[in-house]
Amino acid sequence: MFLLNIHTLSENHPIIINKSFDPSFIDLDEKEIKFEDPIEIKGKIYLASDDIIINVSSRTYVKLPCSICNEPIKYLLVNKNYMHNQPLKTLNDSIYDYTEIIRQAVILELPAKVECNNNCSERENIAPFLKKKNNTIFEKLLGDK
Ligand SMILES: [Zn+2]
Repeated sequence: MFLLNIHTLSENHPIIINKSFDPSFIDLDEKEIKFEDPIEIKGKIYLASDDIIINVSSRTYVKLPCSICNEPIKYLLVNKNYMHNQPLKTLNDSIYDYTEIIRQAVILELPAKVECNNNCSERENIAPFLKKKNNTIFEKLLGDK
């Protein structure tokens, strides 16, 4: 999806990207994490001596399960000013496919954990359970003495 003819690049004329893209190119191997909304990509691609510089920001909503109750949450995923430096000599074709770079730029800030409204209502139901479980282990240890 993200292809570029490197001969169209020059130092003085960056290629400007400012568009919403279909999220299918993300193609994550995580069935719980869903990219369904368009992904806004803004930025520029330009040549700096012998390197192609890709400098983009991205913004989209991703669906993730709450780490407490497992309900899906729409999470605003933003990544500002992602920079990638691709030396021209690493390319063996005049067409540069930079899809993987844009993919990285989008998923880089994916959180390891999310919680509904930053405070899941199920948390209180789970907390006593966890506490009780710990107490049981503690009591068991004392009992063994
Ligand atoms: Zn939750």
